[in-house]
Amino acid sequence: MKFRKRIEITRRGYEILHEYTPGLIRAKTLSSAAEALSPFATVWFYARIINELMNERRLNLIILYVAAVITLHLIFSMVKNVMDRIVNEKQASMWNWFEKIFSDKQMSMDYVDLEDPEIQKQRQKVEENLFMFGNGLGQLVWDTSGLVKVAVGLIASALMTATLFLSKSGNRIADSYLWIPAILLVMTVFGFIYHHLSLKENDIFEEWTKGTVWYNRAFMFYGHELYDSTARAKDVRIYGQERLADREMQRMEEHNRKDNRFLNRMSSCQGLLLFAQGLCNALCYLFVIAKASLGAFDVGSIVQYVGALTELVGYVGLLTWIFSENKVYTGHLEKLFAYLDLPNKKYQGTLPAPKSFFCNDGENDYSIEFRHVSFKYPGTDTYVLKDINTTLSIGKKQAFVGTNGAGKTTFVKLLCRLYDPTEGEILLNGIDIRKYDYEEYMKLFSFVFQDFKLFAFSLGQNIAADTEYDKERLEECMKKVSFYDRYLTMEHGADTCLYKDLSADGVEISGGEAQKIALARALYKGTPMIVLDEPTAALDPIAEAQVYEDFSNMVDNKTAIYISHRLSSCRFCDEITVFDGGRIVQKGTHEELVGDTSGEYYALWNAQAQYYRTKK
Ligand code: ADP
Repeated sequence: MKFRKRIEITRRGYEILHEYTPGLIRAKTLSSAAEALSPFATVWFYARIINELMNERRLNLIILYVAAVITLHLIFSMVKNVMDRIVNEKQASMWNWFEKIFSDKQMSMDYVDLEDPEIQKQRQKVEENLFMFGNGLGQLVWDTSGLVKVAVGLIASALMTATLFLSKSGNRIADSYLWIPAILLVMTVFGFIYHHLSLKENDIFEEWTKGTVWYNRAFMFYGHELYDSTARAKDVRIYGQERLADREMQRMEEHNRKDNRFLNRMSSCQGLLLFAQGLCNALCYLFVIAKASLGAFDVGSIVQYVGALTELVGYVGLLTWIFSENKVYTGHLEKLFAYLDLPNKKYQGTLPAPKSFFCNDGENDYSIEFRHVSFKYPGTDTYVLKDINTTLSIGKKQAFVGTNGAGKTTFVKLLCRLYDPTEGEILLNGIDIRKYDYEEYMKLFSFVFQDFKLFAFSLGQNIAADTEYDKERLEECMKKVSFYDRYLTMEHGADTCLYKDLSADGVEISGGEAQKIALARALYKGTPMIVLDEPTAALDPIAEAQVYEDFSNMVDNKTAIYISHRLSSCRFCDEITVFDGGRIVQKGTHEELVGDTSGEYYALWNAQAQYYRTKK
């Protein structure tokens, strides 16, 4: 990667850190600058004190120097301590924020891309890097300290060694300014050796980590996930999968043992690096001592120059190390940015949602029309919806019925813009729904999908989908979905945590109860339109009958779409739409449709009625 690109990527890395972990880099910079300056200040004053002791021995000046050293030391230590506390605090939570960067992208991505196998692969790689290296951001944070120290250290040591070359000993050779390029050359050669060995060390590390990525993933599965959920724990017990896990973990151990050779190679590199650094230091000392013995400066200055040159050599080494580290983490960051920069291809409209939706008088004053809508899922060739032309009946309770795979759920997914139609358009008040601002548009709908998810937050937070909630409204929604009695048994009321993931007091809920909570969440959102996809599948027959009974009350005068396989449950709807093979084949009331003996509805109705009859 070109140097300019690396700088650009590093800059963007810092921008992201500033956005997600504000204050961390600033605190780290101040702490590192204080740490780097402290030895220079000490060495400079010690040199002055020794020179004073060797020459005029002015007591007041010596006391002043001692006081200055102590004060500066105190200031640097205080700055470092305070900043380190901030750094530690922020670093402890930074990994969560790195995950947040990742999940923010997931959330903002087009839903359709979440299913794209290529994007999934890319996501997987970034996810692996997230756990191994924080996608380069972890290294960027750690290396910031080195970067600041190098900048401060190089300037300070250069300033403190400047007089080494200016002070005259009377010897032509020792006083020659050619020593400046000579010492710089030695430093550069040393820098190159250091850089080369650091790169080699990094390559060895990369090679090693590549081998461990799979094992880490396997370890996460066998060592953690396998025992992590009660559902998996059931299967583990029934199929004795712990044997499988034990054997795999032993294999991982063997792999890690073999990897010790990588570690040996890495420590040889580190040994060579230390040797090169020692050699460079020795050359610098020789020069300083030679010049001092010729009488160019006092003993105190020897302390200053030796101290400063030792620091300089150390910082040249650190600079080259930082440089090779930068190559590694910019490589990781580049992958992260490529993922974050995946464009949203879906058209993003800007129109606000129609106001008439929300005012009580005109709540039903809107229209939704599917016009010649056909759809195939991305990456597939089969149309699952074919030339759909229909207008939703606003303010009515309507059922979508049809055999499995007829296209009912897909119809709803298009309505809520998880996907855009392959052909045709969906119109809200005569305007293509793509032209509305997505968040505005979503204010109009509540959906309860079959595969809804609740979270290990409190009951209230789950229903309100927010940390704050209106308790009265919450209870009203729970009453409507017949969850109120269960709610009254909960020890901490709406603050009761669902599941035990985050709270020992959390309650485990049944599938049916979860479905009722999901329904309450949909009602709480208070939208003019509500779509329920098989909302009673997990309910027992009594609870199911209750939902039907209360359905009108539950959805008030909202437009409600109710997808169901159980036709008996659709009789209470004002209108029934029948899907078959990706088309709408019938529409009407139950009585109208069941009267059409040649229609699909009649066939479905009889098939299910017969089932119930034979059951009896
Ligand atoms: P229904 O709700 O009527 O049971 P769906 O709308 O779920 O039917 O499915 C319609 C068709 O689309 C089915 O053939 C199903 O296999 C297919 N399908 C559903 N989801 C996807 C998907 N994400 N990718 C590819 N095909 C899908």
